[in-house]
Amino acid sequence: MRGKLFDFSPRGWGRVWAGTLIGTLACIAVAFAIDSYSFETGTWGWGEKPINNVLIPVVLGIPFFGYLLGKQRQLALAHEELMVVASTDALTSCLNRRAFVSLVEGYLDRMDRQRTDDTAALLVIDIDHFKQINDTFGHDCGDVALATVAHAIKNSVREFDVVGRIGGEEFSVLLPGASQERAAAIAERIRRNVSETDLVLAGQMRRVSVSVGGVTFDHDKDVSTLLRTADQRLYAAKRAGKNRVVLHHSPHEQAMSIH
Ligand code: GH3
Ligand code: MG
Ligand code: MG
Repeated sequence: MRGKLFDFSPRGWGRVWAGTLIGTLACIAVAFAIDSYSFETGTWGWGEKPINNVLIPVVLGIPFFGYLLGKQRQLALAHEELMVVASTDALTSCLNRRAFVSLVEGYLDRMDRQRTDDTAALLVIDIDHFKQINDTFGHDCGDVALATVAHAIKNSVREFDVVGRIGGEEFSVLLPGASQERAAAIAERIRRNVSETDLVLAGQMRRVSVSVGGVTFDHDKDVSTLLRTADQRLYAAKRAGKNRVVLHHSPHEQAMSIH
């Protein structure tokens, strides 16, 4: 509560009480200014009842500014909730495709502007034989499996990596600042963690695996090229037998200036 009281952002109480205080003080100052100046004589002096210049703004100003700024705070909270709902996939709590792509675009823009030697990586992850899970246990259990795999993926990445659900049983991960080696280590950790996660579906214990395709990149790349390249490597991993990671150039890939 103490934190919220001194939070001056649009969603904090700090803005409400500080705004109410400043607004009321401003009204008091204006009331004094108007009351103290005599337009007839052009002189300044205390009005007849200076206490009214405080009481009236306090009685009217505090509820007025308090109500107005409180409503503004509620709107800011509702807007924030809406933004979270609009950008989050309800089943897995990952970013949805649109939000993920726009976040990657923002990251690529920053890379272009800063032109550092940094590299980053993008992974595309697809659950193997997922249709079988749906066919055997039903769609609801399929949903449970999807949420569990998403959880395993999120537990395998670093705090600042971003996980998105970009298709039915397809996820993507942005690894900011990752070298090829780091990306390979994280992709392998994702693969292993998912394959070691127990899924309890209709009372039965099952495990699933994922195939991972990925690409490391520096500046001057666009998100659709990166996703396409990672996708081609994902399918190279599928063709090679699934439950594996491919981060290097595959023979089926179109020629592209990407490592
Ligand atoms: P592969 O190993 O080649 O990836 O095969 P697969 O069976 O995983 O792939 P396929 O593309 O044939 O099937 C994906 C399935 O994922 C089909 C679809 O019904 C299921 N799916 C997509 N979205 C959802 C969802 O939100 N919930 C559930 N339960 N299933 C979903
Ligand atoms: Mg699949
Ligand atoms: Mg798929």
